[in-house]
Amino acid sequence: MPADRILINGVALTISKGRAQALAIRDGRIEAVGRTADIRVLAGPQTEVIDLKGKALMPAFIDAHMHLVSQGLKETGYILDLSETRSLSEALERVREAVKERGEGVWVRGRGWDESIWPEKRYLTRADLDRIAPKNPVALSRVDGHMLIANSQALKLVSVTADSDEFDPQQGLLRERAVNGFLQQITPKLEEIEEAIRAGVRLAHSLGITAIHDVVRTEHIRAYQRLHRRGELHLRVRMNAPVEHLDSLIALGFSSDFGDEILKLGAIKIFTDGSIGARNAALFEPYIDSSTGLAATGKLNYVQSELNALVKVAHENGFQLMIHAIGDRAIGAAVDALKAASVGPRDRARIEHLELPTEEQLQKAKELGVIASMQPNFLQWSGSGGLYETRLGLERDARIDPHRAVLDMKVPLALGSDGMPFNPLYGIHLAVNALYEQQRLSVEEALHAYTLGAAYAGFQEDELGSLEPGKWADLIVLSEDPTSSPENIREIQVLETYLAGERVFHYEEASE
Ligand SMILES: [Zn+2]
Repeated sequence: MPADRILINGVALTISKGRAQALAIRDGRIEAVGRTADIRVLAGPQTEVIDLKGKALMPAFIDAHMHLVSQGLKETGYILDLSETRSLSEALERVREAVKERGEGVWVRGRGWDESIWPEKRYLTRADLDRIAPKNPVALSRVDGHMLIANSQALKLVSVTADSDEFDPQQGLLRERAVNGFLQQITPKLEEIEEAIRAGVRLAHSLGITAIHDVVRTEHIRAYQRLHRRGELHLRVRMNAPVEHLDSLIALGFSSDFGDEILKLGAIKIFTDGSIGARNAALFEPYIDSSTGLAATGKLNYVQSELNALVKVAHENGFQLMIHAIGDRAIGAAVDALKAASVGPRDRARIEHLELPTEEQLQKAKELGVIASMQPNFLQWSGSGGLYETRLGLERDARIDPHRAVLDMKVPLALGSDGMPFNPLYGIHLAVNALYEQQRLSVEEALHAYTLGAAYAGFQEDELGSLEPGKWADLIVLSEDPTSSPENIREIQVLETYLAGERVFHYEEASE
């Protein structure tokens, strides 16, 4: 049988076996990889021949940490995207416009504000929002999702029960579980979520992504399933479930990896701490800037025995673990809990973010076979005058997001975006061009971690993540080979994206 499609005359970065020039696709999978002359002979009269003319070809990206529905809701305009606002007053102006557009009484939800890049250098407050939106409920999530500011109208409609370090009614400020509880009361309709997923998938394709590891809520799972049942989900989604649902999943007999090649149940996600931006990542040494109303070293969400018990139950019932841990104290708690549960390399437990690990913690992580699931785009907050230096000081800023140290310790690395922003090439650019040596990756290492490394974190390295015969033909064509000029990776354009051999994205220059 001839190939369905061949791509020739390219620079193919196989990720696993060096370079090639060409590739053949049959039945959605990679049939062969090699020199153009060898691949040409696999073509028949019906075969589509694509001449890459020297462009780069590689496996599509797998984003190992993403929140697709939030991203999609920004794409459809349901949630106001505040990530580009350059000052607090600009953010308020955007809300004012939305209020005017939508009319009195209608919800305004926003996400993505980041006071660390604003000249005002302070959080939004309830009073700020009341002034511009006295008659509309408004709720604006911080860029990291670990904090939310609500105005008086919003707090009238939604009930918040939380202790004082998670809820400050005066400031309209919510953290962590209080944020989740709040958002659960104002979820979008199923149709709105489906539309958001569609928009998020289109964006993913344009960024060269064909697979994600998502963290899902009940209504997201429902929407994903509905789309997939209709054959309309053109993205491989590994759905990681919040630990709150662990008991129900166990009761029903589910475990990790239930599903098919598009939609799978992934890990159980546990949050051990918050974020550095929200000042509730758990640290050994205090934050160096003020932290009104909060413990000076942040906060662990669980006492150790509680965390150990959750990890043990999930592990013993066949679930992969996905533990969010940012501060050194939280990473220590996560590693200890995994050790107490006797997790080993074949379980592929993951620690998400792993922003401030100590050397000793990395050593333990290696012994337990833990995967470092990191987001190099967080480096945008590293460096002189940045958020990390302001909150943590110079010494800890140089230790943050240590991709290099992780690889040197032989801890498997998977990269993702966390949607900040959703863009692998942006993150790869920052990792390759990082300020501190501990953070810096070679282009090859970064590409590996965003493809095969992420596939490994999802138990899919036999199916995805490299250009090898037998794997799914999830591919991208890039305007330039990223290894040829590492300082310009950010400028590279994704030209084409293929999912299971079908073209799902094609870049139109100067498209309107
Ligand atoms: Zn996240």
